[in-house]
Amino acid sequence: MSADSGVYAYSAVLMGSPILLKLFDDNAALAAQVFRLIRHYENILTVNRAESEVMAINHAAGQAAVSVSREVFDLIQCAHQVSLLPQSLFNFTIGPLVKRWKIGFQGRSVPPQRELERLMALTDPRQVALDPASRSVFLRQPGMEIDLGAIAKGYIADVVRSFLRQQGVERALINLGGNVQTLGAPPHAAGWSVGLKTPFGQADELIGVIEVAGKSVVTSGIYERYFELDGRLYHHILDASSGYPLDNELLSVTVISDRSIDGDIYTTLLYGLGVEKSLAALRDTPHIEAIFVTRDREVICSSTRQFAFHLHDSRYRRVTGSTA
Ligand code: ADP
Ligand code: MG
Repeated sequence: MSADSGVYAYSAVLMGSPILLKLFDDNAALAAQVFRLIRHYENILTVNRAESEVMAINHAAGQAAVSVSREVFDLIQCAHQVSLLPQSLFNFTIGPLVKRWKIGFQGRSVPPQRELERLMALTDPRQVALDPASRSVFLRQPGMEIDLGAIAKGYIADVVRSFLRQQGVERALINLGGNVQTLGAPPHAAGWSVGLKTPFGQADELIGVIEVAGKSVVTSGIYERYFELDGRLYHHILDASSGYPLDNELLSVTVISDRSIDGDIYTTLLYGLGVEKSLAALRDTPHIEAIFVTRDREVICSSTRQFAFHLHDSRYRRVTGSTA
């Protein structure tokens, strides 16, 4: 815990990520409750350990339907729907490819094409049967694996926000390894300042600052977890239709929205669409706004209704979505 101008910051490492909670009360007991809540959801959702509710489904692939808790079922149902959208990069059955690539973990290598093709056949979201009555999930093919890594943090960030609201907290920020969710704004400030990292920069280097009040800010970037081999970069957002990390003009996508789960879903969806199609798609979703950072150092805001963006890094150029 550290206090600075009335802010009390509490930190932990959970879900393999640094977690930061900012409050305006010296309330270590509340912070401990928040971290316990996060740990609970990590325990039921993780696929990085042998056992969890999601792993029980994966272990029974090709054999049996598994009943899960309401929360896990609802989250899986949401991930299923998003995965079935036309042209969706988002695919919650990406598990076999994620496990094989091991990006961000020890033992990474580029898998042979034949192996990738075999694994790609196991990433079809239509091969998942959901039964709401029994809250059961059945993966029809042996070897299939659900991976909720792309939305778990957003989901949990929203759970934390609800919990803090219930506790009467009006101003707070939770940062779950890059998924930021906020309540209100700090005292005497219009909003929270959330840094947008310079891709492949130093740890504290920022392209700019996003200012929000009571909104979520989620960034997904190819510089978050990656490895380099023979001059090529392999990052952690995979494309189930090629078996490889997605390769396009984007270095990062940030989504500003009310719910952090929407931020998590849209960062992946927009990543897959690229800048131009994303800007067109976002015209129909006023509650979802995005900031794109491209390889040619442009920073493109789709619109700025729910946030302000201040550019700090003069190597980047700000472009507005309507003229991009
Ligand atoms: P992070 O916040 O950890 O950088 P993201 O929200 O960008 O992560 O999600 C990346 C994670 O989602 C990967 O580590 C993997 O577990 C999973 N994933 C990778 N590719 C896809 C995909 N195409 N669809 C859904 N989930 C994916
Ligand atoms: Mg995500």
